[in-house]
Parts: sequence; structure tokens; C-alpha cells
Amino acid sequence: MSTFLELGLKEEINKALTDLGYENPTVIQEKAIPQVIASTQDLKAFAQTGTGKTAAFSLPIIEQIDRGSKNTQAIILSPTRELAVQIGKNIQDFSKYIPEIKVTTVYGGANIDEQIRSLKRGSQIVVGTPGRTVDLIKRRALKLGNIRWVVLDEADEMLNMGFKDELDQVLEVTPETKQTLLFSATFPKEVESIARNYMDNPVEVTSGQKNQGADSVNHEYYLVTERTRYAALKRIADVNTDIYAIVFCRTRRETQEVANNLIKDGYSADALHGDLSQAQRDGVMDKFRKKSIQVLVATDVAARGLDVNSLTHVINHKLPDQIENYTHRSGRTGRAGNKGISIVLVNSKEKGRIRAIERIIKKKFEQVAVPSGKEICQNQLMHLIDKVQNVEVNTKDIEEFLPSIYEKLEGLDREELIQKFVSLEFNNFLSYYKNAQDLNDLSSSRGGSSSSGSRGRARDENMTRFFINIGRKDNLNPARLIGLINDQRITDNIDIGAIDILDTFSFFEIDKNHESGALEAFEANHPEFNGRNVNIEITKKERDGGGGRRRGKKSFGNKDGGGFGRRRSSDRKSGTSERRSRTADRPDRNSKDKKSGGFGRRRRER
Ligand code: AMP
Repeated sequence: MSTFLELGLKEEINKALTDLGYENPTVIQEKAIPQVIASTQDLKAFAQTGTGKTAAFSLPIIEQIDRGSKNTQAIILSPTRELAVQIGKNIQDFSKYIPEIKVTTVYGGANIDEQIRSLKRGSQIVVGTPGRTVDLIKRRALKLGNIRWVVLDEADEMLNMGFKDELDQVLEVTPETKQTLLFSATFPKEVESIARNYMDNPVEVTSGQKNQGADSVNHEYYLVTERTRYAALKRIADVNTDIYAIVFCRTRRETQEVANNLIKDGYSADALHGDLSQAQRDGVMDKFRKKSIQVLVATDVAARGLDVNSLTHVINHKLPDQIENYTHRSGRTGRAGNKGISIVLVNSKEKGRIRAIERIIKKKFEQVAVPSGKEICQNQLMHLIDKVQNVEVNTKDIEEFLPSIYEKLEGLDREELIQKFVSLEFNNFLSYYKNAQDLNDLSSSRGGSSSSGSRGRARDENMTRFFINIGRKDNLNPARLIGLINDQRITDNIDIGAIDILDTFSFFEIDKNHESGALEAFEANHPEFNGRNVNIEITKKERDGGGGRRRGKKSFGNKDGGGFGRRRSSDRKSGTSERRSRTADRPDRNSKDKKSGGFGRRRRER
């Protein structure tokens, strides 16, 4: 790995980078910086946000700028005001020890006269959004006749946002001799056409594979229904105790609604979208950067300029209209050496889009089950215990109260004390999730559950379907059925696929390799459930429309007689509604924190 000095940057720049904590160049910096210093050839860089692309194009420009001249020598175009401001600020930081270098940032929605005054004072580097840049060119406040570098940052986003004409106008008024540096996370045909029309035999550099998501990001999807989408989002926030995430929505309205609901339910959240004033947006972003809010609900455009490196998750509440935008969203996590998770909530109709994204990012998604109440409680409880372990005790300040506290608690032994303390903190939470329902849309997924009780993975082959003679009327639900299967100790960590709970009997799938093991275990253990002897049977024929094998089995028959076919058809109906009703997550609908002072409120107090 080389150093910044070895890439050809002068000591003044290196010193500024050290101040910023940049120890070594990133991949894109290693490739782009020496190239732009050594050659005037145009450059096409495949780099998404988080790869260090801003320094990759800014540093070689700062290195070579003619600081004796006040002419504008570099114009950097960026899709949003926030990103432009960020780039401007980075350039100031990078050139901290070269005071002659001036940078002006220009963008819409702000006083143009001030920007004109700043340009008149002379700036070697101008960073701007396309619309305002064109406006300033037309007013002759921005002169591009001496331009040596044009940077198109996030070119795909600028085109997505409809800035094609503005890009054309800027590129056309810059000298032919300029060097064009085009940075884009994705290269749809519109970006390629800009490259073709305006770049001369460009050198290509990449920060990884083209269009590929960062390696530091894992991609997961959760299968939900429209009724459970929000509840699933809350459970994801609940199970990840230290979540610091952006939740992406498609529209401003959806963004505001999700944020309002989260705030109402006691989460540390806020909204960021274009209907807010600039001052409001700045305020929200500032709070999020300082981590005084943990969950930011945002539209793609509004979140664009937010420079945050430590996001634990990106959550796609809804997938973006343009699949390519998924790369931008997911690239907001797993940055600067951190790992991140990009989560997508999809309903059964949207599921096909996952495959399309996989093709673009060249990575597989993992299907993950919406966490159960038990799983959430376990995580939260352990989080609480970790906090207890790590809390610093300020003996000096509590000293005077301790004797009377010790006296009061004298009768309790260690175990009792721990139990009481944990219950005090946790009772509300436990009761909130006690009857929490399964939120997975099992109707369209095989494999929403895993017998290990951990987050399940999708199984779509090699499963055997079993009939079991207990159902909803026996108080069976998917969690209990999984527990029952586990209790038979067929093998460690057996995979369980689709589960269909019907009125008086049910079906489940397990790994085909354990089909005879399962039969034997149930046979040997004689399990009981709710006072009934439990039997299972393979239903291969049932799948083909048969089911005859069960017919002769006494324990499966109803007292009132009647064949399985008939009972099954009525049960099928109730089975469907069973599955539907399972998706309603009543506890989540009641705002837990209003009553319980659950952890969401504690978060806000933090
Ligand atoms: P960017 O891709 O330009 O948005 O940069 C992503 C983040 O990485 C920014 O917060 C930068 O400050 C940071 N960064 C860029 N280059 C380096 C580096 N060489 N070492 C450490 N952090 C960096």
C-alpha cells in the first residue's frame, strides 16, 4: 500500500490529510491520483459514495492548481446542494496549508448575490449544482474560459435528476483542452453517452467491479405484506440495539408518514425530504450526524449529501423506482472500513426485483425472517446486561446513599437482586412482545423460519412436506410448531421450510435429509401437544392432490366422519385467513412506549 506522498502529493497536502486522519489512500485514490497528476487524459471512474472518491478527484487538482492565478481552473458539478457543500468543505480541509487556494460553492435556494461576490473575489475551484452553475455562467459571473479540469461527480445521479441539458451547457463552454473526470457508481446508457460525447479516449479506473456494491455490505431482504411492512421495520430497529440507519422511502409523503409513526412510537427518528425548508433539512442532518437521532427516514435525493461513515444499516422501506439507485442507497453503509447491512422490505409482488438487483450488484441477497418477539427480547436483554457490565460507578457521588440502600435490600440474595433489577427494566418490554405474532409473509415464502430460532433463510428445494395432526384449534402457531419439532431432537439445527397452520391440522417442511429421522423421532418420543397425541406423516401424495395416505389413520380423522378432502377444503379457507391474520401485529399497533416506557423512549432520552 502506498502513501499519499508516494502518489505524488506535496507535503502540505499530506499534512492536511494526516490532520483529517487519512492514513493511507483508498483504492480509487491510489488509482486516480497518480493518473490525473501524470496525464491530461480524461478519466472515467467507477466509484460509489464511500470509496473516497471526493479526495480522488480533488487532491490531484489541488496538487496542480496554479495558485498564483485567481482564475477558475476547476469546475466540479454535483447533483445536490448537500453534496456540493460537502465537496467544497473537503477541498478547504485538503488545502488547509495552502491558503492561496480558494473554493466557492454555488447552489440553488441560496442568495445568488453572495455567490457572485465570492466568485468575483476569485476562486480557483468552483463546486456547483448544475442548475445554479448554468445560471451563473449566463449572468457572466462564472467564467469557464480557463478551465483545466471538469469533474462530473455522481454523473448517474445528475442525469437521473434531469440535469442532462445543464451538463451539456457547462461542458460546451469549457475549453477543449480541459481534462474531464467523470465519477459514477453506475454506468447506464445515458452516462455512457455523456462519456462518448464529451470525453476523449478516457482511462478507466474502478474502486472495485463495475456497478458492484461494496464488499463491506451484506444485502438482506425481508418478505412482508403491506400490513406488516411498518411493524417489520420496527422489529428490525428493535432487534438491532445500536442501530444507526437511514430508512429510504420513495416519496416525500411516505417518508414523512414513516417518520411520524416512528416518532409517535417513541423511536429516535426524524424525516428528511424536499418539502422541508433548507434550514429544517440542515437541522435534521446535523442531529443525525451528531447521533442525537438514530434513524433518519429520507428520500434518495435529500439524503444524497449526507456524509456519514458509521451507518450500521440502510433500510429500503420501499425499493427505489430505478433499480440502479439501490447501489447508491446501499453504498451509504459499509464505508471507510466499516461493515454494513442493506435491508430491503419487499412484498411478494416486489420480490422479483431482488433478482434484478442481484444481477446489477453481482451479489446475492440473503432472505432473513422478521425477528420474533423472543429474539428481540433476548437481544435487548443482553444489551441491557452489557450496559450494566460496562457502566462506570461513581462511588464518590453515591457513597452517602449506599448505607441506606444496602439496608433496604438486605434480605435479597444475589440472584433475587439480579432478577428484580432486570424485571424492573424489562417487564414492560417482555409483556409488549409476549404475544407478538409472526410477521413473515409465509404465504409467499418457503423458509421464513428456522428451528434454531435464529433468523431464517429461504429454502426452496430439498424439503419434505409433513402433515401433523394438530392445528389452530389446538393453539398451535408457527413458533410453537417449531418448538415442538426442536423438542424431538431430530438433529442439531434442522432447517424448517414453509409452515401452514390450518384449523385442525397443519403442514410443515423440513430438510429432506432428515425425513426418516423426523418420522422416527416423533414415533419414539410420543409427543403430546395441548393434551393431544401428536402424529406426523409425509404428504408427498397430498402435494399431487392426493392425501390418501392419511385417510386410514384414525388419529387424523374427525369424529363426524367425512373424508380429508372435504375437511381440507374448509380448512384451507380458514388456513388462508389464519395466515392472513397472523400478519396483523397487534402489539405493534399499540404504541408501546406510551404505556410502557419501552426502550424506544429510553433511546430518546440518551
Ligand atoms: P467519499 O467517497 O468521498 O464520500 O468519502 C467517504 C468518506 O471516507 C469521507 O468521510 C471521507 O472523509 C473518508 N475518506 C476518504 N478517503 C479516506 C482515506 N484515505 N482514509 C480515511 N478516510 C477517508
